Order: sequence, then structure tokens, then C-alpha cells
Amino acid sequence: PWKSIEPIGLDAIKQLTIAFQADTNPNKILLGEGVYRDDDGKPVVLKSIREAEKILYEKKLDHEYAPVTGVASFCKGSKKFAFDPKNQEQDDRIATVQTLSGTGSLRVAAAFLNKFLPKDTEVYFPDPTWGNHNSIFNDAGFNGRIKKYPYFDAKTGGLAADGFLAAIEKMPKGSVILLHACAHNPTGVDPTREVWKKVSKACKDRELVVFFDSAYQAFATGNEVDDAWAYRYFVEEDGHQVIVTQSYAKNFGLYGERTGALHVVTGSKQEATAVTSQLAVIIRAMYSSPPIFGARVVSTVLNDENLLKQWRVDVKEMADRIRKSREALVYELHQAGSKRDWSHITDQIGMFAFTGLTPEQVERLIKEQNIYMTKDGRMSISGLNTKNIKTVAQAIHKVTSE
Ligand code: PMP
Repeated sequence: PWKSIEPIGLDAIKQLTIAFQADTNPNKILLGEGVYRDDDGKPVVLKSIREAEKILYEKKLDHEYAPVTGVASFCKGSKKFAFDPKNQEQDDRIATVQTLSGTGSLRVAAAFLNKFLPKDTEVYFPDPTWGNHNSIFNDAGFNGRIKKYPYFDAKTGGLAADGFLAAIEKMPKGSVILLHACAHNPTGVDPTREVWKKVSKACKDRELVVFFDSAYQAFATGNEVDDAWAYRYFVEEDGHQVIVTQSYAKNFGLYGERTGALHVVTGSKQEATAVTSQLAVIIRAMYSSPPIFGARVVSTVLNDENLLKQWRVDVKEMADRIRKSREALVYELHQAGSKRDWSHITDQIGMFAFTGLTPEQVERLIKEQNIYMTKDGRMSISGLNTKNIKTVAQAIHKVTSE
């Protein structure tokens, strides 16, 4: 039965990692996938996470199944971490389930939307967005109903605020709009609070279902409250019943543990109970129940004042290193002789810089300099370090000046 099946490549980001691994040049540099690295280019396990692992080890826990909706203390902690509800009533209105990191959360949320919204509902993504958003929503049944709204202004390297707001006004009532809670991937461009307020109001006018993808809470600014500001504002000030997909891959460094949560803000405790039960049915049929280890680690950190304090130090250190690397890259570009305006690199935030390099220039970086980033010019900043930053800056200057 498999004779007619053609091989197919993964998406551009995964393909880039494969090409990098196959490159035999010892001086090759990878600025591709969004994974944090220390100044030696090594993966990092946060101090707070190591402490939590020790505590869990000492407890000699069993390996029984988690409930279909996940580890209860993790869900409770995640809701507080994401929303910080002001009272029990607000807390009760939010349906929360554990998911397989951010991707799994998006997939369950997309299945939920496809099941319960009218069959002609369209979903709007920023242009550009994380490539996997398309694949996830297509697979969940939104094929042919995925649209784009203007987001990035290539001229300024910043937000296309006017086009963004104008597009919302034209969206059919009841559409789903996907927003990145902070540290927009791939552009690193986030709306200001003033713009967020306008977006919230415009979405309210069009009665949109607002969907926040939150893959970088605290990783952008170093502060979990600031990075959750947008969707908390939407909920608290304008009464949006948002969906939030939450990942602990980057902010807790738990990439491979597949730890995440899905939150659906509803109108009442009863609604939240009904939504949770429906999410459970979707999850049960997809993978039955989520893995427990990452959830236990996160819940240990979130529910322990001292560990939480340590985690705040850990995550700030990552955010600060990324910010400093941005500054250092721009400095080294000018040192290398570049006369271009690179200020968008320091204006942007989070894991990625949208450099403005053309696909041809990126191609040259890969072929001639063994420096890997995606063709859209997206650079994973944490791949930069004090040892390679000069080389990268000189190489970028070379391909942008010849
Ligand atoms: N959304 C966005 C915008 C992302 O950048 C990522 C990570 N690249 C994710 C979701 C999900 O990542 P994960 O499944 O590893 O949590």
C-alpha cells in the first residue's frame, strides 16, 4: 500500500538543522532553531529546574498515568502564571488543561475550534508567522480557511500597525485571530501597549475569537508579568474570552519534556467545566494523557516561593544575554564597516531577529561562510556568543555590501 508514497521534507527550520549537522566544517555556526544556548554554544538547564529535579527525585514518585487533563497542581499553577486571576470567580471561569508543549496546545485548541465554531469560520494569522501554525491548523481541519493579516513592515523592520488595524476591521464577524503574546516569531516585533489597546478594541468590534500563542512568557523582557500584559489586558479591560496556548519550552528550558497548557477563558464556572470536559474528550482520542515529568518540574517551581525566585533570576539571565547579544551584533556590524541602519535588531525582542537579509544573501552565508539561518533572514540570537559574533558580523557585512 505504500508504493506510491513520495518522500517529503520537513519545514524549512528543521531542514536547516539537518543541513547544518551534515556540514563537516568545524567552524560552522547555527543561527536557526529557537533554542537557548550559553556563551559556549551549549544547552542550558536552569538552576531552578535542577533544584526541582532533586526535590522530585527525593520524593520517589510513581509513574502512574496523569489524568487526561494533566497534572492538577501544574494546571492550577499554570493558570496563575498565565493570568494571575484576581479572585476565585475569575479563576473558575478559565478552563485549563495540560498539553504537549505549545505545539500540542495549538493542536488541541485548533481541534476544539474546528469542532465547536461554525464550519465556515476563518482563522487569521499574522504575516509572517511561525511556519508550523499553518501545518497545525491545516491538519486540524482549517484547510482553505486560513488567512493572513499584515503585521511586519519590511521598510522599517517594525510593526505595520495601520495595516494590521485596518485588516481587523474587515475580518468577518466571529473569525479567529491568532496573536503572538510576546516576542513574535519570526520577526521579534511586538505591538506597543497603545497599539495592543487598539487591537483589543478592534477585535471586540468585530466579535473575534482572540487566540494568543504564548511561547515566550518572561523570555522576552525577563519578566513574566510584562510578557503576559497583552492577553491579561484583553481579558481584564475588554472582557475578551481569549484562548491562550502556553509553552514551557523556552522560559523553563524544558524543550524535550513537552510541557505546556491550554487555557480557554469562558463566561462562567459552568461553561469552563463544560469546555474542560470537551477538551478532555479531544485529548483522550489524540494521545490519552500527557507526560508527567515536565509538569511535575514546573509545578514544583511554580508552587515554591524560593524556587520561583530562583527561576526569575534564571530567566532574566537568558533574556539579558539575548538583549546584550543584539547590541553586540549591531556594534560588531558597524566595527566591520557596515554603514547600514541595523537598529531594528536592537528594537526587536525575544529569541529571533528579522535581519532583513534577502534569501540570496542568506544562501551566500550558508554556502560561503557556513553560517546557517532560514531564508527569510530570521536569525536565532542565542546562537551568537562572544566567540562567534565578530565572524558573523563580518560575514553579514560581506554579503550585504558586495
Ligand atoms: N508558538 C511559537 C510562536 C513558537 O515559536 C513555538 C516554538 N518554536 C511554539 C509555539 C511551540 O513550541 P513548543 O511546541 O516547543 O512548545
